[in-house]
Amino acid sequence: MRVSTNAFVLRRIRWSDSSLILTLYSLDFGRISAVVRGALRPGSRFLGRIELFSQGEFQLIRREGRELDTAIEASVISHGRLLRTNFRAFAGAGLFADWLLCVVSHGNEPSGPVYRLLEQVFALLEAGSSPWPVVCGGVIRLLQLSGLGFSADTCAACGARIQGQAFWSHSSGGVLCGNCGESGFPVKSGLISFLSKAGNSSLESVARVSLWPGGYIQCHSLLKEYAQVHLEHRLLLRSEKVMKEMLNAGQ
Ligand SMILES: [Zn+2]
Repeated sequence: MRVSTNAFVLRRIRWSDSSLILTLYSLDFGRISAVVRGALRPGSRFLGRIELFSQGEFQLIRREGRELDTAIEASVISHGRLLRTNFRAFAGAGLFADWLLCVVSHGNEPSGPVYRLLEQVFALLEAGSSPWPVVCGGVIRLLQLSGLGFSADTCAACGARIQGQAFWSHSSGGVLCGNCGESGFPVKSGLISFLSKAGNSSLESVARVSLWPGGYIQCHSLLKEYAQVHLEHRLLLRSEKVMKEMLNAGQ
């Protein structure tokens, strides 16, 4: 069946001398893999049209029961050039793409809200937003959309408003009040405020929040551990190290 869909290129893997396999996140079908035959041949019609983190319209051949589609045409919607040439933006886009591919499997529905989130995260990074709040805020949205949301406003165990020292428990599903806190570990109130804001306000406003030094590393580690507990597998986030090194270098 021949179909057309808009999609972001999240991964490019060499398949043969001249062909690539793309991991795409598409508006209509969610996560898909597609082979692009002849993509690396000189003069290929795909030249410059399937770059990493670019957004395009793809013509695909899809076969029932097969996980690998074939891309037969691609035209660019957004080049996303800065996402490849600006180091900060590249690291942020890479880390968010890693998260998305860990959380969303093939054929996961619905794809529209996740597609729009990805579009928003990439647009903010391309506009020069600080990558840590964009990635952490984006991940919090991604977890919500994937049914893995947590409670950051009220105690996950008893529903009480959080006053004074807050605690956190991955398995209980979020923040805990002082009375329920023995099953969790203490967390800074600034972190809980960020988690709550990220769950309730626009990503644009979350992107402008700056935490204390090391705050985003703590936030990201908490999100990663939480996701690992609920997904029951380890998250392979290849760009995490790059992002941490960038922070250490004062970028
Ligand atoms: Zn409680």
